[in-house]
Amino acid sequence: MRTLIQNGTLVRSQGIEQADILVENGFIKRVAPKITEQADNVIEAGGKLIFAGFIDTHTHFDLDLGVTVTADNFATGTRAAILGGTTTVLDFATQDHGMTMQDALDLWHRKAEGSSCNYGFHMAISEWDGERAAEVENMVAQGVTSFKMYMVYDAMRLNDGEIYAALKHMNALNCISGVHCENYDVLNERIHELNSIGMRSPLGHPLSRPNAVEAEAVARLMRIGELADAPVWVVHLSTHEGLEEARRARARGQEVYLETCPQYLVLDDSRYGEPDAEKFIMSPPLRKPEDEDALLSAMSSGEIDVIGTDHCSFTMSQKALGEGEFSKTPNGGAGVQNRAQLVYTYAVRTGRITLQQMAALLSENAARMFGMYPHRGVLQEGSEADITIYDPAGESTISYKTNAHHCDNSPYEGMKVYGSVSDVLLGGRHVVRDGQLVKEGKGRFVFRKASGRYRA
Ligand SMILES: [Zn+2]
Repeated sequence: MRTLIQNGTLVRSQGIEQADILVENGFIKRVAPKITEQADNVIEAGGKLIFAGFIDTHTHFDLDLGVTVTADNFATGTRAAILGGTTTVLDFATQDHGMTMQDALDLWHRKAEGSSCNYGFHMAISEWDGERAAEVENMVAQGVTSFKMYMVYDAMRLNDGEIYAALKHMNALNCISGVHCENYDVLNERIHELNSIGMRSPLGHPLSRPNAVEAEAVARLMRIGELADAPVWVVHLSTHEGLEEARRARARGQEVYLETCPQYLVLDDSRYGEPDAEKFIMSPPLRKPEDEDALLSAMSSGEIDVIGTDHCSFTMSQKALGEGEFSKTPNGGAGVQNRAQLVYTYAVRTGRITLQQMAALLSENAARMFGMYPHRGVLQEGSEADITIYDPAGESTISYKTNAHHCDNSPYEGMKVYGSVSDVLLGGRHVVRDGQLVKEGKGRFVFRKASGRYRA
């Protein structure tokens, strides 16, 4: 089976050029200005942008919070992902208390079967002891080379000593660890303070976790990473102050990776006054326009590595399980389908970053950082033919009604976006054609090598 993509504009981190791509047996066979060989399937891509398939570094599908399970499972979540041009998601397999990592990995493999885009797993750990440590090597042998720890959430949090020991151990095996950075004790105390003056509505959410709650935790993580002599990855960075702490650590010579999310670039905390503001309850919370601006600047200067969605969707009736109390409302929002359009519209089209930077932030850096490069994340001969074709023409409005997410709300409801994903090849298969999903369930597990460490 041969597919020829012709007359498109190739967007790669190192440059933009007009070229054709010939795909054969699932791989990119040739990239050249003009390819005349015969193909079974010809995609005319004149005027369109061709990217290496996008990689979402941060999703939560089929995650059980105890009180409820995320609205999207892998079937619906990966359908939405591929329609949005994401060919690989890295989801968080979660080792709950009393489980082994192997239990969690087996469970996530079962959950993800039949996905419509490729998938890999980070392993989120809720305990750290000799038994867990002994499992890490086994995870690496099964293609799981990145780990996540939380400083918050009763069911998940590790203390600083555990984070220190885990960072050290992961680093010795050339794995990378991400940390959810917020000061747990302080934010809980602030929730009590707010509740005691009668503040229970969504307006209380950003007040309970102001910028310094993140910045203190980022600063602490930076020092823990320094002490452990290990690289650190800050997941979903949301504040200017947190960014400053990461900059200080890099200036000391530390190896720091930064991830942010579209919601911290295009939404701000004025939204907590809106009706249905429960849909904006996520942690970290939405911030101020100054924070959005700082993060966009950091994307432009190359300080941000990757943009993940932190897709963690709940319907409004699930959000209502918190009975209007911000501190009890399930945290998270839907967004896995909207990432490319949001970044294209609000970062590229506004002149904040270049198309080449969009290619790096949405695909290449993730592939490097998480052990998938150059197999994925790049348009070059020999790479997997995971290819996303973006048509910059046209405009549309994001709505939960047209999203494929299995969710009756969207934090981006009503936002205008320019361009759309027209076609997607997944391992050479033409799975999205003219914006429609034509082949479902073709995703495969992505076995990842030890992490790329490109900032080492
Ligand atoms: Zn998350």
